[in-house]
Amino acid sequence: MPATFSTAIAGWYEASHRDLPWRADGYPAWGILISEFMLQQTPVARVIPRLAEWLERWPTPAALAAVPPGEAVRAWGRLGYPRRALALHAAASAISAAYDNVVPRDVDALLALPGVGPYTARAVAAFAYGVRVPVVDINARRVLARALEGRGEPGPAQTRRELPLMESLLPADPARARLVNAGTMELGQTVCIPRAPRCDICPIGGLCAWRAAGYPAYEGRPAPKQKKYEGSDRQVRGMILNELRAADTAIPTDAIAALWPDAVQLERALTGLLRDGLVTGDAERGYELPAA
Ligand code: SF4
Repeated sequence: MPATFSTAIAGWYEASHRDLPWRADGYPAWGILISEFMLQQTPVARVIPRLAEWLERWPTPAALAAVPPGEAVRAWGRLGYPRRALALHAAASAISAAYDNVVPRDVDALLALPGVGPYTARAVAAFAYGVRVPVVDINARRVLARALEGRGEPGPAQTRRELPLMESLLPADPARARLVNAGTMELGQTVCIPRAPRCDICPIGGLCAWRAAGYPAYEGRPAPKQKKYEGSDRQVRGMILNELRAADTAIPTDAIAALWPDAVQLERALTGLLRDGLVTGDAERGYELPAA
């Protein structure tokens, strides 16, 4: 079964995958690292133009490390979750200082970089360097849960169980393993989608345990739901950052105070931004993006 599954996924991926910039031959490891940071919480269509801008402006880790972190936060724009921009800047500094400006290929070295978690480390090793390691994102987890385990939903992540499962599907040849990793994720993103999976065109439709069982209802623990954005502290943080991105100098406190009617929530959001290092300043000097 694993070999049949892998052959079907790899063949389908080779014939049908979307033509995304970071999949092009020779795409730099640095670009793949940036793309993985951006794609963590942001849809592909919004990442593509921003990634191109970043690579043009900062073609190497050293180029990004040479500008203040506030420039990374400014250039992050509205991709959301802007702590990723600060972490990427810190990772660029580490790569330029400790790895001679070359993104490392070893999973443990990648894991030691700021902002790089287990998924990103494995994805960069596998897709930038062809290292044979299992890569499991939410889309791959859904495919594995349905096709191999007969469950309609993956539920909360269980890395210790899911990584060996993915590993068991990878062919020995690293190039083929790369296709299976990428193909499983692509299948979950485009065919085995959360609500209406397109089983009629699925390359593993004849192997799928969930389909064969008649799509039984999922009875396990649900995955945690994302909180509503409207009215949240995230929205207020985003408004403050947008104001600071558009400014060349510090923004006075009363201009910040005018951004949101709930003073307690505004204060909480601003305190959080200061604590996270995304904003610097105080009530007297005003507030701005971090310069150093
Ligand atoms: S047959 Fe349907 S449920 Fe099973 S893996 Fe394919 S798309 Fe997903």
